[in-house]
Amino acid sequence: MPEPGAWPLAVASTDAADGGAGSRPAVRPRPSPRPRAAAPDGPERPRLTVALTFDHDGISTSVEGDLGPFDRSRGEFGVRVGVPRILELLARYDVPATFFVPGHTAVTFPHSVAAIVGAGHELACHGWAHEDVALLDEAAERGILARSREAIAAAAGGLAPAGYRAPYWSLAERTLALVEEAGFVYDSSLAWDDYRLARVRHGDVHAVERSMLGAPGRLVEVPISHQLDDWPHFEPARGGGGAAAPSAVEEIWLAELRYAHAHAPGGVVTYTMHPEGIGRGSRIAMLERLIVTARELPGVAFARLDATVARWVAVHGG
Ligand SMILES: [Zn+2]
Repeated sequence: MPEPGAWPLAVASTDAADGGAGSRPAVRPRPSPRPRAAAPDGPERPRLTVALTFDHDGISTSVEGDLGPFDRSRGEFGVRVGVPRILELLARYDVPATFFVPGHTAVTFPHSVAAIVGAGHELACHGWAHEDVALLDEAAERGILARSREAIAAAAGGLAPAGYRAPYWSLAERTLALVEEAGFVYDSSLAWDDYRLARVRHGDVHAVERSMLGAPGRLVEVPISHQLDDWPHFEPARGGGGAAAPSAVEEIWLAELRYAHAHAPGGVVTYTMHPEGIGRGSRIAMLERLIVTARELPGVAFARLDATVARWVAVHGG
C-alpha cells in the first residue's frame, strides 16, 4: 500500500458527484498503476475531514416521553458532566465541533448552550423536545421546525442555524422538504452513503412493483450511521443491551477512520455522540485516543459541519 499521503486526491473523488442512488457514474475511473503526486493537502481541501457531532438532548427526550426522575437524571448527566468534559477535551486539542440541540435544551439549560457557543462550536437544530416527527402531522412538524430554529438562532447570538438532524433519525416522507423550505443548508439524518456529501432527493414514489426516484433539491446531506453513533453501543435501552467496552467501539471507529483516509480522499467521517453517553470517563478517554490518532494521519482536518458543507457547496455550486 502506498504512503497514505501519496494517494491521488482526484481519483474517484468522494465529492466529485452527488452520491444519491442512480447518480453514480456507470464507469468508475480505474486506479492508476502508480500513485500520482498528491495535490497539496491545504486547509482549503483536507484529504479527510473528521466531523465530531454531539446531540445535546439533555432531558428533552424524557420530558417529551413523560418518563420519570431516573431517565431525566441520565439526560442531565450530559448537561452537568458530559458537556463540560467534551468542551475541555475539544479545547485542549483545538478541535471544532457541531452540537445538535433541541429547543428544550437551549431554553432549559441556557448556560450549557452558551458555553458551547462561547467555545466556538456550531449549534444546529434537533427538534423542540426530541419529538419523533414521523408521528406528527405536517402542521405540528412545521411549528416545531420554526420554533426550534428560532430558539437555536437566539442561543447562537442571532445566527440562523445551517443544520438539522431529526431526533431518532426518524423522518416523515415530507420532513426533508420542510427542512429545505425552512432555509436549512444541510441535514444529517440519512444513511445512504458513508463519506460523501450529496443533495437530498425529493419526490420519491415507492411501490412494491417499482420505486420511482425523485430529483435532488438544494439541501445537502451529511450521512450518518448507527455504527458511528455512541448510543447503540453504550446506552442500554429499557430491558438491557448496550454498555459495550469502549475498546470495542474504538476498534470500529478507528477502522472507519483509517479506511476513509486510505480510500475516500476528500471525504468526511461523521461521528455522532451524546454528552450523556460519550461523557462517561472510560468513553471520553476513548474519544481522546480517536482525536490523537486522527491528528497523526496526514491531511486530516477536524471541522464544523457548516464549514464542511459550505466548502462542498462552493465546489458543487448552489
Ligand atoms: Zn437526539
